[in-house]
Amino acid sequence: MKQGIYYAPVNHPRLGDDLTHPWKYEVPAYRVCPHVWNVGGNDDVCVYLFDTGEGLMLIDSGYHTSLYLVIDRIHRIGFDPRDIKKILLSHWHGDHVNGAAALQALSGCEIWISKEDEANHQKFKDLEGFLPTVDYTATHFYTDEPVTLGRFSIQPVLTPGHTPGSTSFRWTDTDDVTGETFRCAMHGGIGIPFMRPDLLQKFGNYPEDAHRFVRDCMGEVGDWEVDIATPSHLNQGNVLENIPEDKTDYRVWIAPQYWKECLHDRAQGVMEYYPEVYKV
Ligand SMILES: [Zn+2]
Repeated sequence: MKQGIYYAPVNHPRLGDDLTHPWKYEVPAYRVCPHVWNVGGNDDVCVYLFDTGEGLMLIDSGYHTSLYLVIDRIHRIGFDPRDIKKILLSHWHGDHVNGAAALQALSGCEIWISKEDEANHQKFKDLEGFLPTVDYTATHFYTDEPVTLGRFSIQPVLTPGHTPGSTSFRWTDTDDVTGETFRCAMHGGIGIPFMRPDLLQKFGNYPEDAHRFVRDCMGEVGDWEVDIATPSHLNQGNVLENIPEDKTDYRVWIAPQYWKECLHDRAQGVMEYYPEVYKV
């Protein structure tokens, strides 16, 4: 068994794929970094909670159908969902944003997204074939500046391809007990079928973004040094089989070798969609 979040080029199996019955496929809260937990509660999409020491920050918000699991997980690990101050959305698809409106109503939190994706959201949200989105009010758009709260400074980085405004995140987190600091990251859009030539236009994406995704993964973004990579979906890696008995034991996810390997694999997949360009 490969430990650490090993991202495979082909997605790992999930427990189930019935989005209307998330309680059948519930996943406990587990810690991924010293002060970060996955509180998504379901076997599909992740919701990362950052305990900043000055309130809570989330990356993504999951489906509205599994929001009760998010609320439950936040309470179970000893926090109050009313303390959420900021939700950072990786991209506008419903599996990531649909819990945001209710969490904003509960906590009055800020909601952040890229301006590119909010424009794409407004244009394509009613398109047939997409998971309908639950409307939220974006209060802030990412800039080149990090989003900060308490002990965390999270750097958003535009990484288009999956959507025009897919955003990845980098941060560091220090273990209060051991003093170790870990470099952490989540890629915001490694679902590559959205970059297939026949699907690009249908999904509101741009051909040039598929090539930018390849360049980013094979270059600057793939070169990030990442000790702990957190996937945005559980089945993007070998998460389910590695969740430890002790849910506070984040060390199982330390795997500095996998970030680059994952992004190179995903770029390879996109290159195979365009054999005339990449001669693969
Ligand atoms: Zn998506």
